[in-house]
This record gives sequence, structure tokens and C-alpha cells, in this order.
Amino acid sequence: MELKSKSRASGARSLLVLVVLLAGGCGAAATPAAQSGANSGAPGGGSAASVAGQPVVAPSSTSSSAPTHTVTPKATRSARPAPKKAAAVVIAVAQTSTAATAQAGAAAARIVYVDVGQGDAEIVKSGSWTGLIDGGPSGAAYAVESALGRLGVKRLDAVVATHMHADHIGGLISVVYDLRPRRAYVAGPVKSTLAAAFTRAGTVVQQVRRGASLRFGALPAKVLSPAGISGDPNSDSVVILLQAGGKRFLFTGDVTGPNEAAVGVELARGPPLAVLKVAHHGSAYSTTAAFLAQARPRFAVIEVGHNSYGHPSAATVARLRAAGARVYDTLKNGTITLSVSASGTLAWGFSRSSAPVTSGVGSGSGGSASGGASSGGGSASAGAAVAGGASSGGNPMVYITATGECYHRSGCRYLSTSRSAIKLKDAKAGGYRPCGVCDPPQ
Ligand SMILES: [Zn+2]
Ligand SMILES: [Zn+2]
Repeated sequence: MELKSKSRASGARSLLVLVVLLAGGCGAAATPAAQSGANSGAPGGGSAASVAGQPVVAPSSTSSSAPTHTVTPKATRSARPAPKKAAAVVIAVAQTSTAATAQAGAAAARIVYVDVGQGDAEIVKSGSWTGLIDGGPSGAAYAVESALGRLGVKRLDAVVATHMHADHIGGLISVVYDLRPRRAYVAGPVKSTLAAAFTRAGTVVQQVRRGASLRFGALPAKVLSPAGISGDPNSDSVVILLQAGGKRFLFTGDVTGPNEAAVGVELARGPPLAVLKVAHHGSAYSTTAAFLAQARPRFAVIEVGHNSYGHPSAATVARLRAAGARVYDTLKNGTITLSVSASGTLAWGFSRSSAPVTSGVGSGSGGSASGGASSGGGSASAGAAVAGGASSGGNPMVYITATGECYHRSGCRYLSTSRSAIKLKDAKAGGYRPCGVCDPPQ
């Protein structure tokens, strides 16, 4: 077919932008912003992130920001690379979004899931404030700093080092030397090489624990885990729930086990997640069905590269899809740029394919993290046992979809494309309304 008239500047020809409106499932959808308005009441402003009245303890001796460490100067520390031509696609995304912002009011946030190969690195930008959650493996600093450069970032306001594994902080160390974050959030001991970088950069290091309230620029961000330090780095990952445009975005590090379960319990109290950064690169041993029933992510992003660990697990991808999430990963989709408007509209950009991920590595039946018998688990098989309206201890199960605003009985036609089981009280607490077609319990 001939080109449709929507073509833009030729430079944006290969741009893969998918605008997804999180709307509708039945009836007149309430705006998602209204759902979460109640818990976004903290005042705006204040570009410095802060920790409000929470169990923040003094930095450990290895992470002290006091300039008492003698840091051996490393003359070969990476100079910040200039953005290169390969960045053209994402630059176009930024320009397009910026133009839209000027017309439609302030964008709430830009989130970049940087393709760092096998590892994690996520940029959060809110106005002039920029934070970085993890920095990928060593060798990924170039990719991270290029992505920051494309956003015009010359200095970081904050970094989060979710845990001390090399696929999260290997690249972060160089980024800290180069972009001198004002503040760092960590949980537990800081690896000496990273601590030295913080010292050199003048970064104030803060220990955070569950319940800490942070600010990412104008956006509220809450620490959901860990409550304490177990010594297992993955379990002790800093988990952050960010609010932007009335929606919720979760960053998980490599959290697993009881700490992931605790995060799920917390998430079940609020509206569904807009986007889940999937824990541990899509490992079979995180992202349980029970967790997903509580988190209810509409989208999921897996940060993963070529690896020998079996990431992302076919079982995990299957669980995510069964829960109604659309899945992307950085191996297939490349660097993923998400713009969140003030009204909560999500605009996605991809440096490679825009096609969702439909399968992972392996057979899909080997995952052990099925979520056991926890409430709300078994999203795909729960239909017969807990048909909508049937009372099960006064707390009937109902069904929601990936994008809808209503909850339904088991047989409702609106469940034809996706369905996740959820307790009625959780559906109501999450702002879902009863479907007008199937008349579920209220
Ligand atoms: Zn890890
Ligand atoms: Zn990892």
C-alpha cells in the first residue's frame, strides 16, 4: 500500500512507536488516574530525593561517603562516550515525545529499560531529575551512558544499586565515576569497588528498607523490599514502586522467595501495575503465579541478554501471559523507552522489534515457581473451581483482564482474550468496577 499520510520526518522512518491506551474492557472506563489518586497525595516539587522518616541507617563503613577513603586514581576511567549514530531511533522517540509534551502538558516520566545484555539498567526521568536503577554488567557503561546522553543527562540525581551482583553494578561503577550521582540508595553492604566510586563522586549513600518513601523528582517512589538483610543478595534486592501519571511501575532487581511474596501482598492492596520490570531476568524461580495475581501487571519488561542460565524461562513468560501481561524483553525488543503522560497514557519505543515476547527459553513446563496454594494463584485454571458469584468463604473470586477497568464473572465474554483471577475484595480495592454485562458479585 501507499504510505499513509502519517509519515513524519524521514529520520523517524524506522521508528517503532506503539501508543497503548490502557482503556476499556467494558462500559465507560473510569480513568486509571482516578483509581490511584488517593495515594499520590505527597506534594510535588523538591528535586532532591529524600527519605522520609524511615529506618534509614548510617552508611556502612564500606560505603561511607565521607572523603576519608584514599581512592587510587584510575586514569583510564572511562571518559563519557559521545552518543553515536546508532542512537538515531531512540533520539527520534525523544524528539517526538518532547514535541507532544509541549502541547499536552508535562510528561510525568520517561522510563528507559536499557539493553545492557544480560543484566539490569533502568533510567527514570522526571522533569530535570534523572535516576538510574542499576547499571548493567561491566562493559555496559557505554550503553547506559549513551542512553543518558540521548536524554541530555550530564549528572545523575540518584542511583539505586538493587544488589551487589555484577550484572547490576559492574557497569554502574563506571557510570558513578562519570556521572557523579548526588545520592545512592542501597540495602546491605556495598561492594568495595562501588563504595570507592561513590566516595570519589561525592555521592551520599543511604540504606533503605521496606516502607521508605523516596521522591524521584516530582514522583513518589516507595521501597517495598527488603525489610531486613538476609545475606542472599537476590532476595535482598531493593524493590521500588514508582508512581507516574496515576499509574504504578515496579522495579524488582532480582528479588525472589519470601521477599517477592511480601511485595505481592503489598501490591494487592492497590491498583494493578502498569509495568512490571520482571525479577531476575525472567528466571523460573521468581515471578510466581501468586505474585502475578496480586501485582496484576498490564505490561512486563524482562531485562535479559544472551545467557546460559535459561533466562527468560519459558515457564515465567507463560505465567506472565496467563496473568494478562504483554511481555517485552531487551534481547528481542532492544532498549525500550516508555513515556508516561500526565494522564497516564503510555507510549512505547523500541530500538529493535516492537513485537511482544510470546515464549521464553525451555519447555515452559519446568518452572518450579508456581506460587503454590497461595490465594489468587493459578490464574488460568481457577475458572471451574471459583466461578464468579460462588461464595468461597465470603470472599468470592472474580476475573479481570490485562487492560480493562471492570471485574467479571468467569464466563463473561469480555474475558475472551485475557483473564486473571482475583479476590473480589482485592478487585474492589484496586478500583475495578463490576461489569455491566455479566453482573458479578458486589
Ligand atoms: Zn542477582
Ligand atoms: Zn541479575
